[in-house]
This record gives sequence, C-alpha cells and structure tokens, in this order.
Amino acid sequence: MQLTPEIKAQLEEQKKQCVFCKIISKELNGKIVFEDDKTIALLDIYPALKGHTVFMLKEHYPMPAYVSGEEFKHKFGLIPALSKAVKEGMVMTGMNVFIAIGGAAGQQSYHFLVHLLPRENGDGFFNFLFDKNKKKLDEDGVKILQQNMPIMMKNHFGRHPANWHAGEGTVPSFLTSIYESSTVIYEDEKVLCVIPEKSLAKGHLVISSKDEEKFIENLSQEDSAHLFFTASFASTAVFEGLKAHATNIILKSGDSDDNPDGRLAVHIIPRWQDDGLDLLWKPKQSSYNLDEVASKIKDKTWKIKYQKEVKEIKKENIFVKPEVIRIGGKRNSVEDEIKRAIDKLRE
Ligand SMILES: [Zn+2]
Repeated sequence: MQLTPEIKAQLEEQKKQCVFCKIISKELNGKIVFEDDKTIALLDIYPALKGHTVFMLKEHYPMPAYVSGEEFKHKFGLIPALSKAVKEGMVMTGMNVFIAIGGAAGQQSYHFLVHLLPRENGDGFFNFLFDKNKKKLDEDGVKILQQNMPIMMKNHFGRHPANWHAGEGTVPSFLTSIYESSTVIYEDEKVLCVIPEKSLAKGHLVISSKDEEKFIENLSQEDSAHLFFTASFASTAVFEGLKAHATNIILKSGDSDDNPDGRLAVHIIPRWQDDGLDLLWKPKQSSYNLDEVASKIKDKTWKIKYQKEVKEIKKENIFVKPEVIRIGGKRNSVEDEIKRAIDKLRE
C-alpha cells in the first residue's frame, strides 16, 4: 500500500505511544528472545501459554497491508526457525501461530504482531477448537472467493515470480480426502485452499501445505513465506469479498488436543463485530519466571539467520517483462493489485 503523507503522519503519532517501538529502541526493557536487522521476538508478559512469544517487524506497521513484499518474506520466512527454537526451548509437541487483523478479531496493538504459542496435549487451552459451529457460506460467497483468490495470487506471482510455479500442481495423496470433501478455492504447487466441512464462521478457509510435513518448523523459508502470503491474500479476500470486519489467521502444527492428526494447516476465520466467537485468551500475569524461559528460548535462537534469496535476478530475467516491474518508477503495492482485481470483478 502506498503510504500517503496523512498515513505517515498517523503512523508517527502511533509510534510515539507504542510500547513495542520503545522496546525495539531499547527505551523500555522487553524479554527479547531473538533479534535481527528487521525483526524482533519477545516473550509476551501476559502469556496464554508457557513460552508465548510475540514476533514482529521492527518497523511500525499496524497491519500486513502496509508491509512490503521483501519485509513480509523476511518475517514469515523466519517463522519455521523461530517456531523450532520456541518449541525446543519449551520441549513441546505442537505450535500455533495466531494473528489478529482488526479489532473485531482481537488485535490489541497498533504494532502488528504474530503470536507463537507452543502447545502440547493436555495443556488445557481450547480456544482454537474449531468443531463447535457450522456456518455455511452461500453460493454467491463461494463464487466471489473462487474468483478473487486466483486473481490475487496471479497478481502476486506477477510481482514475485517463482521458478517453481506453473499452475495448480497435483494433489498429494494425504490431501485427497480433504480435496474431495471440501470446496476448493485455490491451489498451486505448494498449497491447497478450501472451505472446510466444518466451518466456524461464514467464509472460514483452510490452507494446507502440499508438503507432507506436519511441522511448521521443517518448512523452508520460501515455503513458509508462500504459505503466509496465501493466508494473507485469503484474509484480504474474505475481508473485501465477504465484507468481514476483521480476520484471524491461525496456524496449527504438531500435536495438541485441538489438532488430533497433528497436521499443518492454516485457518482463515472471518470475523464480524459481536459474532460471539471467543478465540482470545484473558490477559494474566505469567505464572513462571519470564527471565528463565527467555534464556531457554534464546539458547536456541542464536543461530537463526534469514537467507536472502540469491536467485532473484535470474528469475526476473526469465519471468518478468520489464514493463511489469517498472512503470515510470512507480511501485505498485500488492494491496493496489488486490483492489484493482476486485474492482474489475465488480464492474
Ligand atoms: Zn510500534
């Protein structure tokens, strides 16, 4: 999204009040467990679960729409390594990644956060048990998502060409039953996005990785970034196409009571004001020593390093026509592309 002078001024105002910006500038102390030039991870001082970590870009953005493609890749490319470190530090079997976009989804900070929640069977956390409600999306809604998602993803691949991408790919056998029992919204070589049989809300989507890997921590940087890019576009698709007020993005991976098969999947849950869903935890003081836990996780994060893709120039030469990447020097944002795609459909 292009940052207008008004938005920039607004962001500057937000930054002055932002606790996380103050921790990043070291004006305030935080329980930092990882830090590089662009990102930082700290323990949540009101943890939902032991080892609850929040991860963010150092630059202050209130939502992912403002984040550049490069920064997005950097941040979400690091999720596997960071998940591994938090899980190993806490000796847990599972991991949730929780994102709230918008107040109705429980976004409580203007500094956009990703929550990492280490999980295990019997941990007593049932906020993400998704078999309670069944709310079906009507046919028009299905049609909107089936039209918009592929257009958004096509525009995305236009801006970020990938040498592995040619089309829909094939469905691996472990996803056959999901494929056959659900309504498919989008797929490519790496991901499958469907409306699940049991929906928590109208427009609930599930994105599965086509890699048979059960654990987020074993995905490559590129696969993780692509999974979250897809989740982010799915979120925009329900936000704009279904007029949701907000969305939650919740990744499940490995064993926990609410993920009996332990599979890796990302849920996109459209949210409306007063929709009665209760996914958030109540803030409470930690029952454990934060410094002790921080040092356990820190012991595992020191080796994490973002590997910038080196093949990018070659890919541009092969896949991108020059006029697509440079239109009079103006940089088109992903958000603009999405808006344009949707406006085109409405015409
Ligand atoms: Zn901030």
